[in-house]
Amino acid sequence: MFFKDIAGQEKVKEKLLNTYNGKRISHALLFAGPEGNGKLSLAIAYAQFLSCENKQVNDSCGECPSCKKYNKLIHPDLHFVFPVVKSKSFSKPVSDDYIKNWREFILGNKYHSFNKWLEFLGVGNQQAGIFSQESHEVIKKLNFKTYESEYKVMIVWMPEKMNITASNKLLKILEEPPEKTLFILVSENPDDILKTILSRTQFVKIPKIYDSALFDKLKELYNFTDDKTNEIVRLSDGSFLRAEEIIADGNENLNNNFELFGQMMRYCFSDKMIDIIDWTDQISKLGREKQKEFLVYSLRMIRENFILNVSENSENNIVFLANNERDFSNKFKQFIHTHNIESLITQFTNAAKNIERNGYDRLVFLDLAIKTAKLLKFKPQ
Ligand SMILES: [Zn+2]
Repeated sequence: MFFKDIAGQEKVKEKLLNTYNGKRISHALLFAGPEGNGKLSLAIAYAQFLSCENKQVNDSCGECPSCKKYNKLIHPDLHFVFPVVKSKSFSKPVSDDYIKNWREFILGNKYHSFNKWLEFLGVGNQQAGIFSQESHEVIKKLNFKTYESEYKVMIVWMPEKMNITASNKLLKILEEPPEKTLFILVSENPDDILKTILSRTQFVKIPKIYDSALFDKLKELYNFTDDKTNEIVRLSDGSFLRAEEIIADGNENLNNNFELFGQMMRYCFSDKMIDIIDWTDQISKLGREKQKEFLVYSLRMIRENFILNVSENSENNIVFLANNERDFSNKFKQFIHTHNIESLITQFTNAAKNIERNGYDRLVFLDLAIKTAKLLKFKPQ
């Protein structure tokens, strides 16, 4: 894995390269950030770089014996811990039982998520986790000498999925770190990790992919028109995985979000409670991913209508709207103003968080619609 393969994240890459150049390599790092931003790939690229025998200025060489093994994720000093599931063949599963699937999963796509991993394993809703038997494996591996490189690297993906026994064992190891071992924890929800583990790691925030980097990457891979690429970027919210899903869904979804948003605003404005309830029924059938996408879309429409409303020259380049959106917004923009924009954004953002946390979708959207109805009609005294 190379740094150059991962979209954007220049600051993080620079920071990581500097740890090497300044010989300030921490023994335990925590890469934390949202899904689909490339953080696991960054962790592997960093490990590959440290191990590379012919380091280039900004990346590994790709050709030395170490890089050749890294390219297949089979370097003997590279170890992984990740969530696994119980099965007929593995009643007490550990990561190594699934290592072949894992390599295929990682090498098949540079962007990863917990759900994609479960999908890849084809295990449906089975409980996946990092179980206590994993700690024996970790300790066993740490007791080996490094074979070929200066560092032994242990990448722990989703440490928040560790059970408490495994967490406590990991804490013990981090408290008395073995020499020449680098731990990289890669997490989406660091709040769910033991505080005592967090305090033993150096926090590296990996943000969303910024828009222009995502744009360039999509352009390079798909070569859609600029308009279409922009549209996808705006809906992806800095996640490469979202962008891929939107592309896989085709244009249908883009239009569907527009329809749903228009309906919601009309019903809310005219207090059509029965229509609002029908609308929440309709949206509750979409599934969480599509619901989240709708909320991201709505946030964008609200922001852009606000800009249209307050800017003198609404034809300027700040707002990118498709034709149907522009027609709608010409009438709608007057309802989004300085007195309600902040509250609207807060309400839609909270709804997205509640959907993410598996809140009851019907209630989340009904609640959102009621609050939106009030905010749209708000007139300053
Ligand atoms: Zn190399």
